[in-house]
Amino acid sequence: MAITPGGGCLRCGLDRTGVPHFRVVAWPDERAVAFEEPACGAHYQPYGPVELGFVTSLVAQLALDCLLGKVTRPCHRIHAARRASLTEAGGRWSDRWIDQYPTMTEGGVQVEREWLSGTCAACSASKIA
Ligand SMILES: [Zn+2]
Repeated sequence: MAITPGGGCLRCGLDRTGVPHFRVVAWPDERAVAFEEPACGAHYQPYGPVELGFVTSLVAQLALDCLLGKVTRPCHRIHAARRASLTEAGGRWSDRWIDQYPTMTEGGVQVEREWLSGTCAACSASKIA
């Protein structure tokens, strides 16, 4: 995500525990933000090096767009993995993803969304002050 001058903060797009307001995936245990190895204590996200390759490209492109002045409003870019990878990991598309991107349920896509701005307590307080 990118925040532009006058455009909110990181907290605006997250709840008080750090979970994004907009989630692409729903996991069987909605509270889980990371999976845990049985009897080990290690936590992990169910993504592999292939998916990370897409994400690093997405982040690099957004950074370049910011440096070149192409980003003029707060935005959030998302890479949604292929549906087959998601299903294999035990997840499913969130209801909001299906509602807002009904033609993208096969995955393997990138989308850009507006980042919520000025909606968190800190930003609201700074507007009052
Ligand atoms: Zn904020």
